[in-house]
Amino acid sequence: MAQEGKPALGWAARDASGLLSPYSFSRRVQKEDDVTIKVLFCGICHTDLHVAKNEWGNAMYPIVPGHEIVGVVTGVGRGVRSFKAGETVGVGSFVGSCRACESCGKGYENYCPALLLTCNGVDYDGATTQGGFADVLVVNQDYVLRVPEGLPPAGAAPLLCAGVTVYSPMVQYGLDAPGMRLGVVGLGGLGHMAVKFGKAFG
Ligand SMILES: [Zn+2]
Ligand SMILES: [Zn+2]
Repeated sequence: MAQEGKPALGWAARDASGLLSPYSFSRRVQKEDDVTIKVLFCGICHTDLHVAKNEWGNAMYPIVPGHEIVGVVTGVGRGVRSFKAGETVGVGSFVGSCRACESCGKGYENYCPALLLTCNGVDYDGATTQGGFADVLVVNQDYVLRVPEGLPPAGAAPLLCAGVTVYSPMVQYGLDAPGMRLGVVGLGGLGHMAVKFGKAFG
């Protein structure tokens, strides 16, 4: 017997106008290694606008954008050990990868050829992935991040794409130390994060 998914209500773009309207759909049934999340906050990344307006020519409407997601765990599969109900967690721009390639082995899943994007991606079961502009999310535990207690959840959401996009190169190029000089071109969604990280690094 086919199991029904979890009912979800989101905001979807339906054509290249990019206008969002309420959209009822289903999340997949929570699998053994899945975490079910009640979404509290979701940032808006410019990628969401590109995708919603089909500016990259790959839109699979209807599209529920959103990949800077913070929420509370409401349920976990039997195989989930790292998360439990009530914890605050985050989900970023991808929700799956092959786990077998060189990039996945090195922790650079973002370079995996089989990377599964959080929205407008094709899941391994053939379903289109839908993002965080919705009330509920079901994600494999390996693509769920812990949001530390005390970090304001609304402010944490943009860290999950804009934040990590500048944090990662800053760390890789050794800018995470006091006394360094940093040039930031453009104070947009990413640039202002770079300034904040730079200040925090000293
Ligand atoms: Zn993004
Ligand atoms: Zn891979």
